[in-house]
Amino acid sequence: MAKELSFLTNNSDETLALARRYSDIICPGDLIFLDGELGAGKTTFVRGMMRGLGFLGKVKSPSYSLMEQYVLNFTINHFDLYRFKSASEWEGAGFSEFINKTDVNLIEWSEKAMDALPTPDLIIFFTYTDQDGSDGRNVRFKSLTSRGEQCIDLLV
Ligand code: ADP
Ligand code: MG
Repeated sequence: MAKELSFLTNNSDETLALARRYSDIICPGDLIFLDGELGAGKTTFVRGMMRGLGFLGKVKSPSYSLMEQYVLNFTINHFDLYRFKSASEWEGAGFSEFINKTDVNLIEWSEKAMDALPTPDLIIFFTYTDQDGSDGRNVRFKSLTSRGEQCIDLLV
Protein backbone atom coordinates (compact mmCIF):
# COMPACT_ATOMS: atom_id res chain seq x y z
CA MET A 1 0.00 0.00 0.00
CA ALA A 2 1.31 3.41 -0.96
CA LYS A 3 1.78 5.76 1.96
CA GLU A 4 1.74 9.52 1.76
CA LEU A 5 2.93 12.25 4.08
CA SER A 6 2.75 16.02 3.48
CA PHE A 7 4.50 19.00 4.99
CA LEU A 8 4.13 22.72 4.48
CA THR A 9 7.30 24.78 4.48
CA ASN A 10 7.10 28.57 4.74
CA ASN A 11 10.54 29.35 3.32
CA SER A 12 13.66 27.68 1.97
CA ASP A 13 15.17 27.29 5.45
CA GLU A 14 12.22 25.13 6.47
CA THR A 15 12.68 22.97 3.36
CA LEU A 16 16.38 22.66 4.18
CA ALA A 17 15.49 21.62 7.75
CA LEU A 18 12.98 19.00 6.55
CA ALA A 19 15.58 17.63 4.16
CA ARG A 20 18.14 17.44 6.95
CA ARG A 21 15.65 15.35 8.93
CA TYR A 22 15.20 13.15 5.90
CA SER A 23 18.96 12.66 5.56
CA ASP A 24 18.92 10.56 8.77
CA ILE A 25 16.65 8.07 7.03
CA ILE A 26 18.46 7.70 3.72
CA CYS A 27 20.15 4.34 3.03
CA PRO A 28 22.43 2.99 0.30
CA GLY A 29 20.31 1.75 -2.60
CA ASP A 30 17.49 4.29 -2.14
CA LEU A 31 15.99 5.64 -5.38
CA ILE A 32 14.08 8.90 -5.01
CA PHE A 33 12.38 11.05 -7.63
CA LEU A 34 11.89 14.76 -6.92
CA ASP A 35 8.94 16.11 -8.85
CA GLY A 36 7.65 19.65 -9.33
CA GLU A 37 7.86 22.82 -11.40
CA LEU A 38 10.96 24.87 -11.92
CA GLY A 39 11.82 26.68 -8.70
CA ALA A 40 9.53 24.54 -6.56
CA GLY A 41 12.39 23.45 -4.28
CA LYS A 42 13.77 20.12 -5.54
CA THR A 43 17.42 21.17 -5.57
CA THR A 44 16.99 23.04 -2.27
CA PHE A 45 15.81 19.77 -0.72
CA VAL A 46 18.85 17.89 -2.07
CA ARG A 47 21.09 20.66 -0.69
CA GLY A 48 19.56 20.21 2.77
CA MET A 49 20.00 16.44 2.55
CA MET A 50 23.64 16.80 1.60
CA ARG A 51 24.23 19.15 4.55
CA GLY A 52 22.54 16.61 6.80
CA LEU A 53 24.85 13.90 5.47
CA GLY A 54 27.82 16.07 6.42
CA PHE A 55 28.80 17.40 3.00
CA LEU A 56 30.14 20.93 3.48
CA GLY A 57 30.93 21.87 -0.14
CA LYS A 58 28.79 23.48 -2.79
CA VAL A 59 25.72 21.55 -3.90
CA LYS A 60 25.26 22.67 -7.49
CA SER A 61 22.13 22.13 -9.51
CA PRO A 62 22.89 19.46 -12.13
CA SER A 63 20.71 21.29 -14.67
CA TYR A 64 23.65 21.63 -17.08
CA SER A 65 25.94 18.80 -16.00
CA LEU A 66 22.93 16.38 -15.80
CA MET A 67 24.56 14.67 -12.81
CA GLU A 68 26.55 15.61 -9.73
CA GLN A 69 28.16 12.86 -7.67
CA TYR A 70 29.12 13.00 -3.98
CA VAL A 71 31.24 10.29 -2.38
CA LEU A 72 30.69 10.21 1.38
CA ASN A 73 30.16 7.04 3.46
CA PHE A 74 28.15 6.02 0.42
CA THR A 75 27.83 7.55 -3.02
CA ILE A 76 25.01 9.97 -3.81
CA ASN A 77 24.16 10.64 -7.45
CA HIS A 78 22.01 13.71 -8.08
CA PHE A 79 20.46 13.96 -11.56
CA ASP A 80 18.49 16.68 -13.34
CA LEU A 81 17.04 15.34 -16.59
CA TYR A 82 15.26 18.54 -17.62
CA ARG A 83 17.38 18.84 -20.76
CA PHE A 84 16.68 15.30 -21.97
CA LYS A 85 14.82 15.19 -25.29
CA SER A 86 14.05 11.49 -25.05
CA ALA A 87 14.13 8.70 -22.49
CA SER A 88 16.79 6.87 -24.52
CA GLU A 89 19.34 9.48 -23.39
CA TRP A 90 19.34 7.81 -19.96
CA GLU A 91 20.85 4.60 -21.36
CA GLY A 92 22.92 6.56 -23.87
CA ALA A 93 24.61 8.53 -21.09
CA GLY A 94 25.40 5.29 -19.24
CA PHE A 95 23.36 6.43 -16.23
CA SER A 96 21.57 3.10 -15.68
CA GLU A 97 24.72 1.64 -14.08
CA PHE A 98 24.30 4.06 -11.16
CA ILE A 99 21.00 2.51 -10.12
CA ASN A 100 22.27 -0.22 -7.83
CA LYS A 101 22.11 -1.41 -4.23
CA THR A 102 25.03 0.70 -3.00
CA ASP A 103 24.35 4.21 -4.29
CA VAL A 104 21.67 6.70 -3.35
CA ASN A 105 20.05 8.15 -6.46
CA LEU A 106 18.10 11.41 -6.46
CA ILE A 107 16.43 12.30 -9.76
CA GLU A 108 14.88 15.64 -10.71
CA TRP A 109 12.66 15.65 -13.84
CA SER A 110 12.42 11.85 -13.86
CA GLU A 111 9.44 12.11 -16.24
CA LYS A 112 11.91 12.96 -19.00
CA ALA A 113 13.22 9.38 -18.78
CA MET A 114 10.16 7.67 -17.33
CA ASP A 115 10.22 4.57 -19.54
CA ALA A 116 13.92 3.99 -18.88
CA LEU A 117 13.79 4.21 -15.08
CA PRO A 118 12.89 1.59 -12.48
CA THR A 119 10.13 2.26 -9.93
CA PRO A 120 11.49 4.58 -7.24
CA ASP A 121 11.15 3.87 -3.53
CA LEU A 122 9.71 7.33 -3.03
CA ILE A 123 8.52 10.33 -5.00
CA ILE A 124 8.72 13.72 -3.32
CA PHE A 125 6.31 16.23 -4.91
CA PHE A 126 6.99 19.94 -4.49
CA THR A 127 4.22 22.43 -5.20
CA TYR A 128 3.76 26.15 -4.66
CA THR A 129 1.10 26.85 -2.05
CA ASP A 130 0.21 30.20 -3.70
CA GLN A 131 -0.04 31.43 -7.26
CA ASP A 132 1.79 34.64 -6.41
CA GLY A 133 5.27 33.18 -6.17
CA SER A 134 5.48 33.47 -2.37
CA ASP A 135 7.71 31.19 -0.31
CA GLY A 136 5.21 28.56 0.81
CA ARG A 137 5.67 25.05 -0.52
CA ASN A 138 3.83 21.78 -0.08
CA VAL A 139 6.25 18.86 0.16
CA ARG A 140 4.49 15.51 -0.26
CA PHE A 141 6.19 12.15 0.14
CA LYS A 142 4.66 9.11 -1.56
CA SER A 143 6.02 5.58 -1.26
CA LEU A 144 6.07 3.09 -4.12
CA THR A 145 8.00 0.25 -2.48
CA SER A 146 8.14 -1.30 0.99
CA ARG A 147 11.44 0.51 1.53
CA GLY A 148 9.67 3.78 0.69
CA GLU A 149 6.94 2.95 3.21
CA GLN A 150 9.59 2.37 5.84
CA CYS A 151 11.10 5.81 5.05
CA ILE A 152 7.72 7.49 5.53
CA ASP A 153 7.14 5.64 8.81
CA LEU A 154 10.50 6.91 10.05
CA LEU A 155 9.70 10.49 9.02
CA VAL A 156 6.32 10.79 10.75
P1 ADP B 1 13.97 23.37 -8.36
O1 ADP B 1 15.17 22.49 -8.20
O2 ADP B 1 12.68 22.69 -8.01
O3 ADP B 1 13.90 24.00 -9.73
P2 ADP B 1 15.32 25.15 -6.52
O4 ADP B 1 15.44 24.41 -5.24
O5 ADP B 1 16.52 25.25 -7.39
O6 ADP B 1 14.06 24.58 -7.34
O7 ADP B 1 14.83 26.63 -6.25
C1 ADP B 1 13.86 26.95 -5.32
C2 ADP B 1 13.90 28.45 -5.13
O8 ADP B 1 12.78 28.88 -4.38
C3 ADP B 1 15.15 28.89 -4.40
O9 ADP B 1 15.54 30.16 -4.87
C4 ADP B 1 14.64 28.99 -2.95
O10 ADP B 1 15.38 29.90 -2.18
C5 ADP B 1 13.23 29.49 -3.17
N1 ADP B 1 12.28 29.12 -2.12
C6 ADP B 1 11.40 29.95 -1.55
N2 ADP B 1 10.65 29.34 -0.65
C7 ADP B 1 11.04 28.04 -0.64
C8 ADP B 1 10.60 26.90 0.08
N3 ADP B 1 9.59 26.94 0.99
N4 ADP B 1 11.23 25.72 -0.17
C9 ADP B 1 12.21 25.67 -1.09
N5 ADP B 1 12.66 26.71 -1.81
C10 ADP B 1 12.08 27.90 -1.59
MG1 MG C 1 16.59 21.78 -9.55
